[in-house]
Amino acid sequence: MEKIVSLCKRRGYVFQSSEIYGGLNGCWDYGPLGVELLRNIKEGWWRAMTSREDVEGIDASILMHPRVWEASGHVENFTDPMVDCRECKARFRADQIADAPCGSPAYKGRPASRCQADGKFTDARRFNLMFKTFVGPLEDSSSVVYLRPETAQGIFVNFLNVQAASRQRPPFGIAQIGKAFRNEINTKNFLFRTREFEQMEMQFFVPPGSDQKWFEYWKEERFRWFQSLGMKKEKMHFHRHDAGELAHYARDAYDIEYEFPFGWGEIEGIHNRSDFDLTRHEQFSGKSMKFFDEQTKERYTPFIIETSAGASRSFMAFLVDAYREEEAPTADGKTETRVVLSLHPRLAPIKAAVFPLVNRDGMPEIARGIVSSLRPHFRVFYDESGAVGRRYRRQDEAGTPYCITVDSQTLQDRTVTVRERDSMVQERVSGGDLVAYIREKTL
Ligand code: ATP
Repeated sequence: MEKIVSLCKRRGYVFQSSEIYGGLNGCWDYGPLGVELLRNIKEGWWRAMTSREDVEGIDASILMHPRVWEASGHVENFTDPMVDCRECKARFRADQIADAPCGSPAYKGRPASRCQADGKFTDARRFNLMFKTFVGPLEDSSSVVYLRPETAQGIFVNFLNVQAASRQRPPFGIAQIGKAFRNEINTKNFLFRTREFEQMEMQFFVPPGSDQKWFEYWKEERFRWFQSLGMKKEKMHFHRHDAGELAHYARDAYDIEYEFPFGWGEIEGIHNRSDFDLTRHEQFSGKSMKFFDEQTKERYTPFIIETSAGASRSFMAFLVDAYREEEAPTADGKTETRVVLSLHPRLAPIKAAVFPLVNRDGMPEIARGIVSSLRPHFRVFYDESGAVGRRYRRQDEAGTPYCITVDSQTLQDRTVTVRERDSMVQERVSGGDLVAYIREKTL
């Protein structure tokens, strides 16, 4: 993980939030390459969802009526057990004490579990993970609202609006990408558990009775999606929730887990939420949330199959999955270690880098001309500094799938060398064919 965190900073993937002030725990900023990778992941997901006939998209607001979170069960149930250490004054999640360090200067470095053994801990209390704020100028209990801890509720409360406006009938889904906020007690493992993150959620509304069939369908479909963007199958598995793990709303649930360097962790949850959500919103709002089927003249509350992925966690999984170090030959016949981010070309932030082999004989001008012809279509990068081998290495580390070099043969026949990142195989391509060539390989 340390290597990946350091590469993220060096290459402009991810920076610590407010770094010059010492950072803010659980918050991260995406740099120039990171923002492109994140957008490409979200774009891939959005396209996979909304290119279907039976999925519509929305973008709901982050602040919602506070009753939403009573109906959803978050006010009551969205809590973690928390203990305070009387010695070091730090707060811990009661189920994650073993590997947490004690914060007391007197006990620096010792695990908090020893404070616990010494009887220094308070009893466990429930701590609600929702961030609170106020709407309007009065900061009293009547103006409390929450930053949404999940995007799902914005979909549920809009179910009938979307259904009527788009003339869909179950089975159909509503997709949304957006920020969610959780005041996690312990943030750790880089982007894995943060306080502000993005979710990609699609809630699929189905007639009761067909729910388990759709649940199995979406579970397979979502696993395949990660693989379609290059994620290694052997690093992924399903974890099925047993009765004790199931959330209060769930009938059945699978997590798609990825094997991170620190162990297996959830990147997406697929849940059969039954009719819990729409029934609760009907009770709390007093408005019917039932669907009336004009064809069969039936009125019913649809069941919901949820697919809930973290964009930020997927980002980290794709990065970890792509990272490798390998021995590669140098120009003078030796070998060196090269770091490669083998991101799927559709995810890669920069699709091609363009180099003049040397900074003379008109090569920089031709190379800049190629950059101008590619730039309207793709993110490209121009680099003329240092030996060409070093320029390749920089792009390998940034995950750029193609490097285009203008060399002496270009001056004669207008062809260029195109080198592929993973295989390092080079081929000659006519300058005029480059847009079509890069498009075919990366979009
Ligand atoms: P965990 O058990 O790891 O806290 P969860 O079961 O609470 O996760 P869900 O509520 O199912 O997670 O959220 C759906 C997805 O949102 C998760 O699969 C994950 O990708 C993402 N997610 C949830 N919490 C966080 C977080 N604190 N930071 C980053 N991503 C998160």
